[in-house]
Amino acid sequence: MHCPNNLEKNVVDYNEKKEYSNYKSTMTLKTEKNEGYSIYVKGEEIKSLLFGTHLKENDQEKLSIVATDKDNILLLFDNKLNGYSNCFKKQNMNVSKEKLKSYNKFLCHSCKNEKFDISLFFEYIDEDVLKEEDEGIQDYSNSYQWIKISLKCCNCGKKYKNYVDYED
Ligand SMILES: [Zn+2]
Repeated sequence: MHCPNNLEKNVVDYNEKKEYSNYKSTMTLKTEKNEGYSIYVKGEEIKSLLFGTHLKENDQEKLSIVATDKDNILLLFDNKLNGYSNCFKKQNMNVSKEKLKSYNKFLCHSCKNEKFDISLFFEYIDEDVLKEEDEGIQDYSNSYQWIKISLKCCNCGKKYKNYVDYED
């Protein structure tokens, strides 16, 4: 499965296709009772008519997004911990409840609901090809070069397509 190890157990509807030496994978994340995730973010939200609403790095170059349900706190993406430039050492993907307090809760712009379905896209270079080019990769599951995260409000159905769209 081409996705970060810390998300693997929540993945459903997994698909991947290989193009040359790249893997493109798509998936959704589901909570046990399928009631959606609460979303917490760090970064700067940009609204554009053409591209919709996006989360970008802010002044401190922070971009981080976390999903929670009753039992889990899942780091979806953090530009200081995830992606190709961070795969050369093992990263700690755990987010404590204490750390979560520094995030802002994301609420649906239309209905203020706080539960969302999550879809993810990743692009990885084939492990053998990547390891030929680069030595010292500690976590291949974290070596993706592109991530897109889309959200859908569980209440009104509003879509936040590619809310995070980050190439490393
Ligand atoms: Zn909504």
